Amino acid sequence: MTAVPVFLYHAVSDNPPRWLAPFTVSPRTFVEHLNMIADSGLRVVPLRQLVTTLLGGPPLPPRSAVLTFDDGYADFASTVAPLLAGRGLPATLYVTTGALHASGTPSGRGPFPSAATLSWGQLRELDAAGFEIGGHTKTHPQLDTLPRTSVREEVGGCKREIEDALGHPVDSFAYPHGYSSRTVRTLVWETGWTSAAAVRGPSALSSNRDDPLRFARLMVRADTDRKRFELWAQGEGAPVAPFAEGLRTRGWRAYRRARAVTGHPYRALPTDEG
Ligand SMILES: [Zn+2]
Repeated sequence: MTAVPVFLYHAVSDNPPRWLAPFTVSPRTFVEHLNMIADSGLRVVPLRQLVTTLLGGPPLPPRSAVLTFDDGYADFASTVAPLLAGRGLPATLYVTTGALHASGTPSGRGPFPSAATLSWGQLRELDAAGFEIGGHTKTHPQLDTLPRTSVREEVGGCKREIEDALGHPVDSFAYPHGYSSRTVRTLVWETGWTSAAAVRGPSALSSNRDDPLRFARLMVRADTDRKRFELWAQGEGAPVAPFAEGLRTRGWRAYRRARAVTGHPYRALPTDEG
């Protein structure tokens, strides 16, 4: 099975708020990563090319990789996009619509307190520049702990808001915190998303045979060292999806659901595990 690294970044910044720091890499580190990707002979392809493969199309060429960015932090426009554009690299940006703000108004409201997030105007510019815009719910909840009506509103509502803003359909969804369940995945598909990004375990490599509604990603964190990133770029150093959901994951979900029901939801950072 051919491993496909799908890298997941959050913020790329030298001064993130404290709660976001573990999920932030510096611009300098990000450039090193792009250099390692190029040096290792990886070819960054648009996400839709992987999804076409997962939906039964032709296999990806060997040594393909995908770049994804979650949540919609402002540094995607100021830092990430120019670096990617300079190298001609495609990427998918999954935005939480409740965190986006009207152009000319301050950010830092909604689900990511004190973080600078993108404006809707910037989102339109990034779309026009060729970056794929995907959905990441309205308020960044743990979808697998919510009732179906709330899942529909989060998953369908964010799709409508993005499509209204961009004026065209969007296809790609990512689960907040990486969490999904069979019911959530069915609702995501029924809403019209054709793919959904997960995080399997702490990190996993995707493949030509992965599940399009929960394809695996490699979460790049502040503590992801150079050696680990190099391994990932070689298609090593992490399990290759698809694989069966472990007992530990199921037990963890039951725990989080119980917390949600008792009114003491587990408060997770933007993304912490599968
Ligand atoms: Zn997120």
